[in-house]
Amino acid sequence: MPAKVQWIQDELDQLKQSGLYNRIRTISSPQGAWLTVDGVHVLNFCSNNYLGLANDPRIVQAAQAAVARYGVGPGAVRSIAGTMDLHLELERRMAAFKHVDAAITFQSGFAANLATIPALVGKEDAIYSDELNHASIIDGSRLSGAQIIRYAHANPADLDRVIQENQGRFRRALIVTDGVFSMDGDIAPLDRIYEVASRHDILLMVDDAHGEGVMGAGGRGIVDHFQLHGKVDVEIGTLSKAFGVVGGVAAGSPVIVEWLRQRGRPFLFSSAVTVPDVAATLAALDILEESTELVDRLWENSRYFKAEMKRLGFDTGSSVTPITPIMLGEAPLAQQFSRELFDEGVFAMPIGYPTVPKGKARIRVMISAAHSRSDLDKGLEAFAKVGRKLAVTS
Ligand SMILES: *Cc1c(COP(=O)(O)O)cnc(C)c1O
Repeated sequence: MPAKVQWIQDELDQLKQSGLYNRIRTISSPQGAWLTVDGVHVLNFCSNNYLGLANDPRIVQAAQAAVARYGVGPGAVRSIAGTMDLHLELERRMAAFKHVDAAITFQSGFAANLATIPALVGKEDAIYSDELNHASIIDGSRLSGAQIIRYAHANPADLDRVIQENQGRFRRALIVTDGVFSMDGDIAPLDRIYEVASRHDILLMVDDAHGEGVMGAGGRGIVDHFQLHGKVDVEIGTLSKAFGVVGGVAAGSPVIVEWLRQRGRPFLFSSAVTVPDVAATLAALDILEESTELVDRLWENSRYFKAEMKRLGFDTGSSVTPITPIMLGEAPLAQQFSRELFDEGVFAMPIGYPTVPKGKARIRVMISAAHSRSDLDKGLEAFAKVGRKLAVTS
């Protein structure tokens, strides 16, 4: 190995020794309630395919039809020659779905955050950020050059305190929070955060990646859940989770959306989302607008699973959403628990430091509308068995 990359090998070895090396499993089946993982047929408790749309035949068909008509690649960035009528249709439909005035789409939720935050604040400004915000919010915030001021998790009183402490120090400010927090499944108290934002007349942005297609009426998101339409300045969403495709969206104030078309760097400097992605997302919107059946089933499944896990004696933390953490404590126990589950035919990944704090390792179960009652029962049985074996439950 050339000496100049030896340090990388040393770092990799260090990760392996400390149990923090990412061993990435390979899926060789369509996404769904069951997967073929590393060649084994297992129950899927891991993916963000909340509504089971990733392999829905209606979506597959829409993507195929669009490819037949338009081909695949967009050929350019949106601002040069990559904006197709399909992109604009998706933006109109997303805004209508979310009952807001405007929307702009990006290549991913990550790109949506990198586009939006630096367009709204710069070096002379402040970002008030929940201490547990997603990595893409943190990266977007760093790129902006604004000063990042963290407030205690989901705590509007602490937000108010840090804003008052910093009064007059900055040109302008942005409050940003996840809507649904992906590791704990709890939600931001957006109504009270809005009160603080509005009292101080500060821009408010929420990243609703895990709420899109999940929270609110028929999956219209966390802003709909709290009935804050037109009050939250900009909502970031992903089309990669409940929508079952890939892509990101910023929705809300028309002037902000127009500004992002001029200043959102991933919009200006990275090619547009592909034709099949856009067509598939439009088909997902059709399905969501037609009926609340999938969203209802998702919540019914989540309630059932969580109640049964509690009955078995597991600690599911502070979750109020389909994200169901099973709190285990130390990382090696979570890793062993996950391996034992896999041997029982259940795929559920362990999550440890630095994704969650030390001593708060867990298995994170992602419930989906694609799960049948018997799938959930099979999962519960495996948890019960491994829980007893590893003395997590009695
Ligand atoms: C998953 C996630 C993202 C990234 O979305 P992608 O579309 O996968 O890039 C951004 N923010 C939050 C809060 C997320 O959970």
